[in-house]
Amino acid sequence: MIEPQTELRRLRDRCVPAWTGPRLAVVTLAALTLTDAEIARSLFITERSVRRHLHEASARVFEWTGTVGTRSALMSWFWVHSGCCTAGALHLLETGRLLECG
Ligand SMILES: [Zn+2]
Repeated sequence: MIEPQTELRRLRDRCVPAWTGPRLAVVTLAALTLTDAEIARSLFITERSVRRHLHEASARVFEWTGTVGTRSALMSWFWVHSGCCTAGALHLLETGRLLECG
């Protein structure tokens, strides 16, 4: 059992780079606190696909903890890594090209 605070601290050092395509777009929109339904509408995919992408992203980020993580933990990770792993996503967002990844 890993304490949440310890886990969050360790997350800062845990880079998971090379995010592409729909998963990148889904995770980014989720980090902006859009709901599953809003993300699905924005990217023209189903809510089921949104949840699958979030689940897979979370599993990848938290693989080393032996758990699949939670949505809020994934969102914390996203912002902690906004200068490295998710910087590309934020750049796409700023230049209006993020939705093209969907
Ligand atoms: Zn990183």
